Order: sequence, then structure tokens, then C-alpha cells
Amino acid sequence: MDIYLLLFLIIVLLGSVAVSTYYFKDKNEQLRAIQSGICPKCKKESIVLSDQRGGGCGPKLVSFYCTDCGYENSFSMNSGCNIS
Ligand SMILES: [Zn+2]
Repeated sequence: MDIYLLLFLIIVLLGSVAVSTYYFKDKNEQLRAIQSGICPKCKKESIVLSDQRGGGCGPKLVSFYCTDCGYENSFSMNSGCNIS
């Protein structure tokens, strides 16, 4: 195999790993802020739940919306079966 092609593939691989790691870390931080009622964009307590799909014993898709700056994002969350 061509050494330059191999080098190129390694760079692409490392790049995509770095991007996805950054993306998930960022998403987790946003979710943590939202769960405490704070908008990750404008840092105000104006986050409202706008949509919720799924549920039961599977993962559900929850959408949040900021009434102040218009930020919105959806997260998939695992809902346990034993929550009363
Ligand atoms: Zn906001």
C-alpha cells in the first residue's frame, strides 16, 4: 500500500474520532445544563420542554426549547421501567 494513502487514512480516522468525541462531550454538557433548567446558549432559566416522543421501556426523544433566545435541541434519553 502507498505510504501516503495510509498516512491520509490515519489522519482522516483521527480527525473523525476527535470530532465525534468533541460533539458528544458538547452534547452532554448541553444536556446537563438543560436538566438544571438553564439554556446552554444564553445561560438563562428559560428552557421549556417542547416535545416528547417514545417512552415506556425504551429510549425517548425529548426536545427542549428556549423561550428567550430560540435555542432548541433534542436528546435521546433512556427511561427506566421502574420509575414511578
Ligand atoms: Zn436561550
